[in-house]
Amino acid sequence: MAQRMERLLPTDTVTLLRHIGEAGDALDCPTYVVGGLARDLLLGRPSSDIDVMVEGDAQALGRRLAEELEAELECDDRFLTCKLILKSRRPIDVATARSEIYEHPGALPKVQRATATDELGRRDFSINALAIRLNARHFGKVLDPFGGSDDIRAGVLRVLHENSFADDPTRVFRAIRFAGRYRLSLEERTHQWALAAIASGAVDGISVERRRQEIIAILSEPRPAGCLALLAEYGGLRFIDAALRVTPEVERVVERIAELVSQELPGLRAGEAADDEESWPESWMLYAAALMEQLGDERAALACRRLRLTAAATKQIVAAVEHSRRSATAMAEPDEVPASRIYQAFVGMPLSAPILALALAPSPQARSRIRGYLGTLRRVTADITGDDLLAEGYSSGPAFAEALRAGLGAKLDGRADTREEQLRVALTVLQQHAGTDALGGPNQEG
Ligand code: ATP
Repeated sequence: MAQRMERLLPTDTVTLLRHIGEAGDALDCPTYVVGGLARDLLLGRPSSDIDVMVEGDAQALGRRLAEELEAELECDDRFLTCKLILKSRRPIDVATARSEIYEHPGALPKVQRATATDELGRRDFSINALAIRLNARHFGKVLDPFGGSDDIRAGVLRVLHENSFADDPTRVFRAIRFAGRYRLSLEERTHQWALAAIASGAVDGISVERRRQEIIAILSEPRPAGCLALLAEYGGLRFIDAALRVTPEVERVVERIAELVSQELPGLRAGEAADDEESWPESWMLYAAALMEQLGDERAALACRRLRLTAAATKQIVAAVEHSRRSATAMAEPDEVPASRIYQAFVGMPLSAPILALALAPSPQARSRIRGYLGTLRRVTADITGDDLLAEGYSSGPAFAEALRAGLGAKLDGRADTREEQLRVALTVLQQHAGTDALGGPNQEG
């Protein structure tokens, strides 16, 4: 494994892992890297989160490393853990190998030191119950007491024991996430136990908060289409809305969003001011919208409430559900569509709406128009303001907004490049209003 670590991990990560192993040697503690990094190395994938486990005092190791690496240290005495924050801000979690005894279901666990194998035995799946030794003499040696490597080779996800899902029903969602991410199938008995956990109502007993976290985690996968199909297969979509289906069309749109998120959106977003960041939806909101689009906006809003999503997330999702398909169709019009109409189709909406419209758009022309909006049009502003109209002797009123919009529209369509030309367009609108509304005309004294 040491060679694979050198090949898959950045040099500074390997140096850091060796350093941690040497600190473990100094304290005479068997020291391991566990969790996602161990799993991903065995899957042949690069990974970055460092979770360290020691058979011994994690906090003593943490203090030593904090000093040597000039890192910050936060300790949690209840769980015998600590967190190092390196100067680069990279976090490293360090935990004592422990076992937890629940004196009765629902009670807080009693934590006590244990062996690495005991610790791994508390994990959810065999692929997560792997550890890689860091001590110098054994660097790279794999500890695999539950057959995780064999399961990786066989392409299966396996829980460690029959009661795993009953002990912690959130593992059903985790199973879906890992199986979808790594394209594993649930090992036969794991599959049956997952179905039993769902049938028994154990999954319904998960708090709304945790359920929301798990569903967001699934939707935050870089390519969640496979996870959504599994969520449907295991009946988990009902926690969002019982009527939801993962049709081939939903899968196609989700895949399309994944491509947009990884390839196109970063470019369309380039140059964005930092304070505009929050108007960009997180990728999970786009996938949620793609899924909920089949419900319509009112029912999608109810689903967001059922999951207790934040107001900001709900706004992004519901706007995309409400507007994207109609806008995508409008943008596919074969005749020329002026830039001002493209702008009007999306202005004022959360960006999830044009992004989902881009994923739904039926033609290259429609896509290019929506890209135009996201990349440039949405940032265009008029060169005139209400003050310019006031200076022309008009009193502010409802016609102002329309006049300014007309000035901007003329700029977008290339009919009014200069300030003066935009002002002329805006004044024409105000004059038309003045013809029908005496209050809208220029002030007598102006
Ligand atoms: P990701 O790549 O999504 O971050 P991860 O496995 O690294 O996955 P966590 O969800 O933080 O990230 O879990 C870290 C480790 O803790 C897992 O590898 C697993 O061994 C263990 N773990 C987390 N949640 C549970 C759980 N509900 N039951 C048992 N073990 C768990």
